[in-house]
Amino acid sequence: MRQSSLVVVANRLPLDDNAAPDGACEWRRNPGGLASALHAILAPTPATWVGWAGGVGRAPALPDVGSLRLRPVSLTEDDLRGYYEGFANSTLWPLYHDAVQQPVFQRDWWETYRTVNQRFADAAAEVAEEGAAVWVQDYHLQLVPRMLRDLRPDLLIGFFMHVPFPPPELFMQLPRRVELLRGMLGADLVGFQREQAAHNFAQLARKLLGAEATDQTVAIDGRTVRTGAFPISIDVAEMRALVTRPDVVSQAKQLRHDLGQPKRVLLSVDRLDYTKGIEHRLTAYSELLRDGYVKVRDTVMVQVAVPSRERVESYQELRDRIEGEVGRINGEYGRVGEPAIHYLNQPFGRAQLAALYQTADVMVVTPLRDGMNLVAKEFVAAREDGSGALVLSEFAGSAAELEQAFLVNPHDVDGLKETLLRAMQADRADLAARMAAMRRHLAGHDILVWARAYLSALDDTGHLATLTG
Ligand code: UDP
Repeated sequence: MRQSSLVVVANRLPLDDNAAPDGACEWRRNPGGLASALHAILAPTPATWVGWAGGVGRAPALPDVGSLRLRPVSLTEDDLRGYYEGFANSTLWPLYHDAVQQPVFQRDWWETYRTVNQRFADAAAEVAEEGAAVWVQDYHLQLVPRMLRDLRPDLLIGFFMHVPFPPPELFMQLPRRVELLRGMLGADLVGFQREQAAHNFAQLARKLLGAEATDQTVAIDGRTVRTGAFPISIDVAEMRALVTRPDVVSQAKQLRHDLGQPKRVLLSVDRLDYTKGIEHRLTAYSELLRDGYVKVRDTVMVQVAVPSRERVESYQELRDRIEGEVGRINGEYGRVGEPAIHYLNQPFGRAQLAALYQTADVMVVTPLRDGMNLVAKEFVAAREDGSGALVLSEFAGSAAELEQAFLVNPHDVDGLKETLLRAMQADRADLAARMAAMRRHLAGHDILVWARAYLSALDDTGHLATLTG
């Protein structure tokens, strides 16, 4: 691999906020999936990562993290509001997730989004060696591939969309739809989580740009852009190492004890986001309690809801609604010392998460729409003994791979209740067979397989020396 010439461009640097700039940097374990994912492939590789360090104003001087050079991009308070909280997370994010929350189209956000994308492109152009491969990540930076091509036609440019890419009828709502599409088409390879996204992309390229497009290629400006599905995964080996660590094993035992040694533990781990289906799940669980199918004395639910995008109004409102509902459910069905739901609005570290995954009997992952959902895969990887049930939304990208999960339509509250009960009551042999099949799949499709598949497809598009040799 021409490792020294890989540049990753992502909204965030994979850096611990507290560590910089005193020299003692550590990898940041961001509650978002992207940093967790790229950590596994880039940690041993000499490469440069361009991204925002967090905070506003001048970017701090950052030391290398192992063999990874960090190139911070600074953002002002106005940039944060217009680019990050505004266009990326209040326009694109809800629209790309089936508009489960109404997207906001505020005109002045666009200019900031464009300016910040240009800043990222400039930074990447500055650090990339002659002929380097640059891998641009996600919906925050959709204009970067084209900007970078204009600045540095010598580069091999990849773009990967971690979130869903929506069908034309949704994308067409975007006032700046042509620029956004053309931005992505600056890449040599545009990767998605699922085939359907590449299909949506081709339809849009035909419709909006009159391009000749299939689900594998788009011909534009005399170039051919390759497209395809590259479902992201997790660092399976890291999770396996974690769950066999004695301190994690004893932490898991302690957790079960602290929960009152219930017969059954249901667990959900999400960023506090309206795409994650937390409210639907609470409704289903509360009705199971109401109708006596679930008893607080033998079943507990643990809901981790990691704080996320807290300055965005819709997230504040969601938090209020969820916390009101958890309070209502605990008020109505809890007993002294025995809440129905243990609600944790805080981030957990890797070891703590691994212990939680080990403690759970039923993992409940029911997003209304999710590009992939790494939590579902982490749970499977954490079940060394092959036990445990996974209830998984059909609308998570991971459902296409984890077919043996208890798949469910999270909008259908009755179906969700029925599926939760089925998962809780399934016999051991059934669960073991399902888990074994999912674990086999994951073992052959971990994060390294994903990265190699993407980088070798990028290499295949190119005019460059081998990336993945
Ligand atoms: N995560 C974490 N601490 C937490 C909760 C989650 O580190 O307290 C991690 C989790 O292990 C997973 C990622 O955050 O790797 C979440 O990725 P996912 O694809 O499930 O959802 P996203 O947050 O990217 O929408």
